[in-house]
Amino acid sequence: MIIEGKTNKWEIVCGLEIHCQIISKSKIFSTASTKFGADANQNVSFVDAGMPGMLPTLNKYCVHQAVKTGLGLRAVINKYSEFSRKNYFYADMPTGYQITQFQYPIVGEGIVTIDLDDGTTKDIRIERMHIEQDAGKSIHDIDPHKTFIDLNRAGVGLMEIVTKPDFRSPEEAGAFLRKLRSILRYLETCDGNMDEGSMRCDVNVSVRPLGSDEFRTRCEMKNVNSVKFVMQAIENEARRHVEVYENGGKVEQETRQFDAVSGQTKAMRKKEFAHDYRYFPEPDLPPLILTDEYIKQVADELPELPDAKKARFVNELGLTKYDAAVICENKEVAYFFEKAAVGHDAKKVANWLMGDFFAMLKCKNLTIDESPVSAENLGKLVDLIEKNVISGKIAKDVFEIMSETGEEPEKIVEEKGWKQVTDSSAIEAIVDKVIANNADKVAAYKGGKTGLMGWFVGQVIKESQGKANPKMVNDLVVKKLS
Ligand code: ADP
Ligand code: MG
Repeated sequence: MIIEGKTNKWEIVCGLEIHCQIISKSKIFSTASTKFGADANQNVSFVDAGMPGMLPTLNKYCVHQAVKTGLGLRAVINKYSEFSRKNYFYADMPTGYQITQFQYPIVGEGIVTIDLDDGTTKDIRIERMHIEQDAGKSIHDIDPHKTFIDLNRAGVGLMEIVTKPDFRSPEEAGAFLRKLRSILRYLETCDGNMDEGSMRCDVNVSVRPLGSDEFRTRCEMKNVNSVKFVMQAIENEARRHVEVYENGGKVEQETRQFDAVSGQTKAMRKKEFAHDYRYFPEPDLPPLILTDEYIKQVADELPELPDAKKARFVNELGLTKYDAAVICENKEVAYFFEKAAVGHDAKKVANWLMGDFFAMLKCKNLTIDESPVSAENLGKLVDLIEKNVISGKIAKDVFEIMSETGEEPEKIVEEKGWKQVTDSSAIEAIVDKVIANNADKVAAYKGGKTGLMGWFVGQVIKESQGKANPKMVNDLVVKKLS
């Protein structure tokens, strides 16, 4: 995106830092549960509560999840990493510090390929990913005078993914977040729900004159909680920078807050008041050492990721790039499609999936896992059309019943007597009948009103209650009228 100012054209420069909650049964340094929705302060161990003398123990499963994520980001896995203390005071962080990784993160540089609206792709470079603990929550809206503290989230494992400043437009950042979420969900390492806070995004923005390669002062918007808001924050913040520069001002490095109501950003704290975190190595945890064997073992468990699946659907199943992209973005949809397509015409299955099937889910407000039409039955329905057992038109009626009852399509066709008529003598009899009953139309046709052809075909199909094979009807009507 290029911003046209009064004196200059400007380019956006943006980098993202994304906190992703690790899917694991227990917290990263304690055995307390991570279960969402428990009563306040029910999932809190002495470690999470910061009791003196308590010792953190690293949860192996969280490490496994982080390595899996790193591999999914096509990133370097660092065999040596370390934990550090990041010191700051927050009422919902009783230890007074966060255990995180600083100098030596578990994951190094990687790549995420994003898909842009014009059909092109772009590689976004990942700078690093480290693991750390989450803080608790302060609740300000229960009492007018008091703030309540819920420590259930304190100590839940997080992966912080940091990108290079590679985004040049809000669209690129949006495409990145959607792709990242899709990858994390395929990996089952984070559920990616931004609205529930399990994926939270800090947005860094600056601008520069178009064509220059300098990096100017950036501002950071913390915890922006939807893809749409991230895109808005980037655009509006970039426009603000352009204003400042074009009026001869200087952008100050600061943390700003995105206000979802106005879509604007406002100053929160300047860098001069920024925290000095006084990082130092965490004395209660040894360095984390991984072996090649271990990394290979995790690599062997990786599922097929969305880009690979998409390429396979295009190359092996003949789907268009667009259809493959839509189907692969969501893991559940991709798995459903694969199940439905096995042994059937994959392109036709994709058409049904993206047409009537998605419309039905939307109309009934169901997720794909709740669909009354199973993947197998959708495949069978496509087969019935392919084998000329039913016409495409009847198939719509069959599908409607399937989405009410969940029944098999063959059974519905059988019970309703909807099998397509492909017996040419039966069709011929109907054609003859229609011709005999409409002598005036036949005369008109022969007199030059050739447009009546479609009318005859329609009459025959109607007479057959929609069951006559349309191609055979067409051929017979042409033959009889000529
Ligand atoms: P810090 O350690 O202060 O958070 P980093 O250098 O790690 O700073 O950068 C944090 C984020 O800011 C990264 O996502 C990076 O891509 C982004 N970033 C760095 N410089 C700029 C810039 N000039 N404009 C926009 N984003 C930037
Ligand atoms: Mg930062």
